[in-house]
Amino acid sequence: MSETIFHKIIRREIPADVVYEDDHLIAFRDIAPQAPVHVLFVPKTDIATLNDLKQDQAAIVGRLAHAAAEYAKREGFAEDGYRIVMNCNGNGGQTVFQIHLHLLAGAQLGRFGT
Ligand code: AMP
Repeated sequence: MSETIFHKIIRREIPADVVYEDDHLIAFRDIAPQAPVHVLFVPKTDIATLNDLKQDQAAIVGRLAHAAAEYAKREGFAEDGYRIVMNCNGNGGQTVFQIHLHLLAGAQLGRFGT
């Protein structure tokens, strides 16, 4: 497992605009937002890609999704709607190799595709 910028954020070695943290995960605003709201939810367990997620780690992804939904409710945009995305490897567009969930909201989002 190689070190990523997200590991440094988790250890608070570099700054980030953290919006939520608990024992299992941290959430912070994306540095290059693709929507009015763009928050990344990152587990504190080292997992490079979704391909590396073991069966007994599946709840980790559930925690990310749950934390994102709770954040949407707290911030008042849950009813309007939002999107969660996880990119995996090259064709998926993954650039940071510590799994993370993108929460995008605040505008009508485009459809998927290339
Ligand atoms: P992905 O392409 O799915 O791996 O997503 C990585 C995301 O991390 C991108 O949307 C980047 O803009 C974001 N990112 C990279 N470095 C930072 C940082 N230091 N703080 C916040 N977001 C970052």
